Amino acid sequence: MARRIKPLIAGNWKMNGLRASKGEVTKLARKLARGGKPACDVLICPPATIVGLLKETAKGSPVAIGGQDCHAAASGAHTGDVSAEMLKDLGARYVIVGHSERRADHGETDKLVRAKAETAHRAGLTAIVCVGETEAERDEGAALKVIRRQLKGSLPDGIAARTTVVAYEPVWAIGTGRTPTTEDVAKVHKEIRKQLVKRFGDEGEKVRILYGGSVKPSNAAELLAVENVNGALVGGASLKADDFYGIVAASA
Ligand code: PEP
Repeated sequence: MARRIKPLIAGNWKMNGLRASKGEVTKLARKLARGGKPACDVLICPPATIVGLLKETAKGSPVAIGGQDCHAAASGAHTGDVSAEMLKDLGARYVIVGHSERRADHGETDKLVRAKAETAHRAGLTAIVCVGETEAERDEGAALKVIRRQLKGSLPDGIAARTTVVAYEPVWAIGTGRTPTTEDVAKVHKEIRKQLVKRFGDEGEKVRILYGGSVKPSNAAELLAVENVNGALVGGASLKADDFYGIVAASA
């Protein structure tokens, strides 16, 4: 029988959020307190500038805080960058690495993403490693090949399920309101699970595989019910506590 994996619902605020946005976290924490213990782990990844503030705001609630990226080095001459140690120092527990926006905007390669995941682990953070095909790759029928290549190149050796999460985010579904069919999601997640088990054995069975791309309260239950979908990485719908709570509630 398939093992029950506790889902993770993670919000990626991207380059949105000022100090005043802590009100959304307060609201989310209140809703979670009223709704009883959530059936999933709950995470918000705000911009690095407010990680510390939101960590304080979320104190005493089930909401964990994470970063959206980290440099591959622990410290050094890297103007403007943020290290995994710095995020950890602010109270972050997770960091997203290899988001498609970073792969596209900053030319991040699988090799660099792997180095970032390794540095996150060294700092004591859980790395959320993102993979996903572009629309052109999908149209060529190359989605699974691309994802296999990204997993191979972006995941460190010897990962533990406790400190590594994989997020499948088809690039064409991010911020577009379009989602793959549940059959397509199932196919890709099955392949990701297969690759994880092949490389990491029993740990691979336990690694959480999140789906990301236009997840909203209205489609969350359907997507979260798909086999091998162990949570969601949510962009736009994570900015408002009401919407994000709707997705958290759908994971029950
Ligand atoms: C994301 O950026 O990780 C994401 C999934 O965005 P959205 O939910 O807005 O599509």
